[in-house]
Amino acid sequence: MDKLHVVITMDVEPPTPDTHPTATGPQSWAEGEKFIRGYAERAGEFGFPVTFFIHPEVTVEQSGLFEELKGRGCCVEGLHLHPWKFGDGKYKAHFGGLGEREMRAAVSEAIAMWQSGMGRRPLYFRPGTFSGNDFMYQVLTDLGFRGGSCSAPGRIWPRLNAIWTGAAPDPHRAHPIFRQLVGSLPFANMPIAVDFSETRVSVGAQWRDVDPATASLDANTVVSHWDMRPDWQSADYDRIAANIVSQTRERGATIPVINLLTHNDNDFTDPDDRVCRNFVRAMQAMTDAAKAAGMEPVGSTIETVVDLVLAEPDRSLEFVYT
Ligand SMILES: [Zn+2]
Repeated sequence: MDKLHVVITMDVEPPTPDTHPTATGPQSWAEGEKFIRGYAERAGEFGFPVTFFIHPEVTVEQSGLFEELKGRGCCVEGLHLHPWKFGDGKYKAHFGGLGEREMRAAVSEAIAMWQSGMGRRPLYFRPGTFSGNDFMYQVLTDLGFRGGSCSAPGRIWPRLNAIWTGAAPDPHRAHPIFRQLVGSLPFANMPIAVDFSETRVSVGAQWRDVDPATASLDANTVVSHWDMRPDWQSADYDRIAANIVSQTRERGATIPVINLLTHNDNDFTDPDDRVCRNFVRAMQAMTDAAKAAGMEPVGSTIETVVDLVLAEPDRSLEFVYT
């Protein structure tokens, strides 16, 4: 029976009083820890380990918590970075808004802080809001990362420097020059799993849907597909999961993966919390969709997915004369 890797991830943010009132994140360190523990427990009930991408400041405060979660099978080797949130505020930009030299500097500084908290280097990377540009994969490879979750296929969010039209939808080696393409770098990217059957157009971070026919598209417009994140106000998780699984199979993905992400800003210990409820629903939907497709759902971390990608032959595209 074919395996479907179910990868549960969380971007771990510092408390919003330390960053910005409109940013994602918990109200306090204690609240953040509670939500992280709840998330790992809910995932554990389905037999799924969690992959954490941790903002540097959090490692300095909470490395003990992550060591404990590592002991329970979670992957805690991820670095999460919103440059504007980081350090002294020098980088007033989203990740994809950095030039190559600034990007190297920001990631190097972030690694140093992460290392001071965890006692080792991070191995996996996820930029805030999937903001990225064509410098990033070479920079990340040079700075010692072996993989990450850096792309949201189909997302167009110009204001946040997050444009992923035409991006490879399945886990693959990254390309050093052209971020949407499969390449041959020793860096494995696991895109966020999306359901391509519907394209949504909304305005800003409020995800207020607008009619694409009449909307005037500008830098604040967000074009995206549904994904499995539990944060949605209302989403048909069964349908999205079934579509993702069937599209993954139709594409002939060599490493079939379904994944989801969220942040540490909802109470995953409270069964009456909307996002906690959605999280459980999403995990059940992924499990059911795998079984309905005749696949075995297997809880994996990004480490497993990256190992599999890096063991594959080179799948980069051959040059064509045209
Ligand atoms: Zn984030």
